[in-house]
Formats: sequence, C-alpha cells, structure tokens
Amino acid sequence: MDDHERRASTEALFRDVNERIAESAQRFDARSTEFVCECSDPSCTDRVEATLDEYEDVRSDGAKFLLVPGHEDPSIERVVASTGRLRIVEKVQRRVRSVVMRLNPRARPSAASEHS
Ligand SMILES: [Zn+2]
Repeated sequence: MDDHERRASTEALFRDVNERIAESAQRFDARSTEFVCECSDPSCTDRVEATLDEYEDVRSDGAKFLLVPGHEDPSIERVVASTGRLRIVEKVQRRVRSVVMRLNPRARPSAASEHS
C-alpha cells in the first residue's frame, strides 16, 4: 500500500465513523451535530460541527470530505466550500480519488466499477 492509498483509507475510515454519527443524529432529530474530521492524519481527533444538510451535501459525492479548517492538503484535494467552522474538499489526486470512490459507503453496486 503506497502513501496515497494509506491516506485515502484513513479518510474512508473517518467517513464510516461519520456515517454512524449521522445515523444517530437523524434518529434523535438533530439539525446539526459534531462530526469527526475526515482528514488523512490517523491521529486527528478534531471535531467538525455541521448541519445534517451540509453533511448530506458532502456525502452526495464520493470524492468529497468534511474537514476542520486548515486540515486540507492541496497536494491531494481542493476546497469546494468553506465556512468558519468547516472545509468541504474534493479529492483530485488520482490515486486517492480512486480509493475513496471505491470505498464510498453510499455507492450503488453499479457504481462500484471504478477500478484503478
Ligand atoms: Zn483533521
């Protein structure tokens, strides 16, 4: 596993955690909640406050991730939305993008054909 794959797997893992956080927030009818930062640093434990609408917008695209401001890495992603609380980034590095798309928990079986 190369460095890009390792970083992409870390991000995909944080994304899975947030999927469960979003599920329980929905169950309690919360409008917003604290998600975990989905950056590529495995030791990052920072939290991102976001509304469920913002979160759903991020998750609608398998290449988009939710980060704490300042945790974005221009060598693998570009910022597509930014507020004082959060950054939404899209993976642009080819290898990273391919791994996170493959691990997308929202992907339908027919969309799982993106192999690298
Ligand atoms: Zn982070």
